[in-house]
Amino acid sequence: GMLKGFGNTSRPEKKQEISFDDIGGQGSAIKELKEALDFIRNHREIQSLGIRPLKGILMTGPPGTGKTLMARAAASYTDSVFVSASGSDFVEMYAGVGAQRVRKLFQTARDTAKKKSKKTAIIFVDEIEVLAAKRGQNSSHMEYDQTLNALLVEMDGLKVDDSVRLLIMAATNRVDMMDPALLRPGRFDRQIKVELPDKTGRLEILKLHSRNKPLASDVDLKLVARETFGFSGAHLESLANEAAILAMRESLKEIHYRHFHEAVDKVIMGERLDRRPNP
Ligand code: ATP
Repeated sequence: GMLKGFGNTSRPEKKQEISFDDIGGQGSAIKELKEALDFIRNHREIQSLGIRPLKGILMTGPPGTGKTLMARAAASYTDSVFVSASGSDFVEMYAGVGAQRVRKLFQTARDTAKKKSKKTAIIFVDEIEVLAAKRGQNSSHMEYDQTLNALLVEMDGLKVDDSVRLLIMAATNRVDMMDPALLRPGRFDRQIKVELPDKTGRLEILKLHSRNKPLASDVDLKLVARETFGFSGAHLESLANEAAILAMRESLKEIHYRHFHEAVDKVIMGERLDRRPNP
């Protein structure tokens, strides 16, 4: 009906394969990540040289910059099964439940890989700081400590010659809160910064999210990129979507520059309304 001609404005399906080409403005982060992933792709050489396997990659940076996309793209790049969880999934009132869930997550990754005949699995944990906060500092609970210990035990147990190789990718915007035990060699020993995009990066992201949208000839995405200082990838995705909605409200078949311009304010306002009080 009304949305015809505006392409698919919904967020990508969870199942959809993501490649590095779907990520804008993160050239150097992607380069670093690929270098690390090549260790997994060339595991035979790694093994024969006696190099210790890469177990964990920590992505740090502000929300909505593409950390989840990077982990999904990493799974496609390495032909791995993708399993994900959020740090907050492990926080429970009852002692031991968080630790049990960590073990379950690793087991699910192994089982899914075997079922799909894949040699590798990527486990992605978003908001890792929730379960990996500095021990003894987080709260009086012992629960967090048990959960973190379970994660450390699982990671320490990973071997290069296991039938299914696992890589843990985690994301946080609070690396300062993380227990240093996790950043030691053999754990999350690679850190990749995923920053807010600069002007060129914003242009790349705007192009990606306008790929399937009909733009009027007056739309200058370079100008839009200039007007969106401080926007994350998630903001820019939302901007393109809002612009399309504004055009639809005017029963137009194409999105004009003024819709993008108006959507900038909408996205900023939305952000203000969403903003939670600082902890
Ligand atoms: P959070 O830390 O809040 O989980 P994140 O860094 O994991 O955020 P994503 O979940 O990867 O962010 O991004 C959310 C959505 O925003 C993506 O599905 C995509 O539509 C858009 N997006 C974010 N970053 C980019 C980017 N660099 N290129 C293209 N799209 C992006």
